[in-house]
Order: sequence, then structure tokens, then C-alpha cells
Amino acid sequence: MGRVYAVLGDIHANIDALNTVLTDARAQGVTDFVSVGDVVGYNAAPVECLRIVRDELKCPVVRGNHDNYVSWLDTSLDDFHPAAAQVVEWTRQQLSPEDLQWLHDLPLQRPVMGFTLVHSTLDMPDHWGYVFDTQQAEAHFNYQRTQLCFHGHTHVPMIYAATPGGVVRYEPCDFTIELGQRLFINVGSVGQPRDGDPRASYVIYDPATRQIRFRRLEYDVAAAQARNRAAGLPERCSLRLEAGR
Ligand code: ZN
Repeated sequence: MGRVYAVLGDIHANIDALNTVLTDARAQGVTDFVSVGDVVGYNAAPVECLRIVRDELKCPVVRGNHDNYVSWLDTSLDDFHPAAAQVVEWTRQQLSPEDLQWLHDLPLQRPVMGFTLVHSTLDMPDHWGYVFDTQQAEAHFNYQRTQLCFHGHTHVPMIYAATPGGVVRYEPCDFTIELGQRLFINVGSVGQPRDGDPRASYVIYDPATRQIRFRRLEYDVAAAQARNRAAGLPERCSLRLEAGR
């Protein structure tokens, strides 16, 4: 049996969503986990999520903007939404120096067995640009050297394909990758979906069959909200979970 990958994005310290995803992934035959970053931020279980990703899954991860803000202590939070910035400050206090160093040292992009991981885009991975349209994806494709690249950051699952006629955008769907097709796939968010669907999102990639599958899973949103409220995190972070925005 070959490897089957689960691609996790924007876990954002949501242990209730992460555990649900891990159970599903194993039931689906996943053998390996990779992540497009933002392990922490917004929710109340950064330590648990980080240690599962790093120690249990031994997951190749790239640095997301929240991972960056939490661990690069000289980064200014002035341009950041106040609620998000408040959680960044709170998260810094939860993590050990070793955990902070691990986040700090994550690469901005990394190759994994023939595909690439990045949080935002490969053209300027440290600018945290959001890809919502084909023009933004076009800039990224100029730097994509592998057939397949996974990303996150918008928390909205999406498929971009580079074709001779330009970049085409597709809604998430299950499909088989064609030979020579160049794809930039947004895996959505495990811990804070923003496409109006509160269910946790991730992608399964099977290199042997070349299949891509988008998974959406209900999880215990109320438990995640209770955890956030008990930690004193901004109410906005809890409300977003049930709205999927
Ligand atoms: Zn994020």
C-alpha cells in the first residue's frame, strides 16, 4: 500500500475539529498528514494542537501568518484585527519556549514527495496574500515548480488550474488529477471555516490513484465555543465557528 495524504489547513487551535478530522482521515485510509499552516490562533487549544501536529502526526508544516505573529515576537500586530491580536498575545503565554521556537522555525514553503505546501502563495509567501481570484492565482503559478501545490489562508476551499488559456477556478469537488495538469488547491480550514459552512474542511490526496477528495465534517462546535469562552477569548472567535464565517 502506498501513502495517502491528509492535507490539513488552518487548524487554528481548534482541538475539537482536529480530533474529528483525524478520526475521519484514519477511517479513510490516510497514512500521512501534512499541513499548510496556522496551527494556532483564534481558538483555545494551541498547546494540544501543536503537540499533536508536531509530536504525534510528525506532520510536515509550513508557517502561517498566525504562527508567524505568535512566534516572531518583534512582529507588529498594529494592522491585525484586535480580536485576532488579542488571541495572538494569549497564545504566546500558553506555549513553551520550545513550542514557540518550533513555530518560529517553520519554513514558508516546503516540498513533500512531489508536491508543495505553502500557507498563502509561492510568489510572495511572506506577504500573506489572499488568493480569491484567478489573477492572484496566476501570480502564484509563475513560482509553482511542482504539478501540485496545496495552500490555505482564506479558509475557503477552492481549486485553481493553470491551463494554456489561463488560470481556471473550480469549486471544491472530488476528481482525478490528469497528467500534466498544474493545480493550486486550497484545502479549506479545519478549525475556522469561512465559506458559510461551519463543518471542518480538509483534503485527501492519493498519489497512486491521483485522486483528490474534499472532506467536510460536522464536529462539536459547542464544545469548541465553551473552551474559547472558558479561556476568556473574544466572543467573536466563538460566534464565527457556528456561522462558518
Ligand atoms: Zn488562518
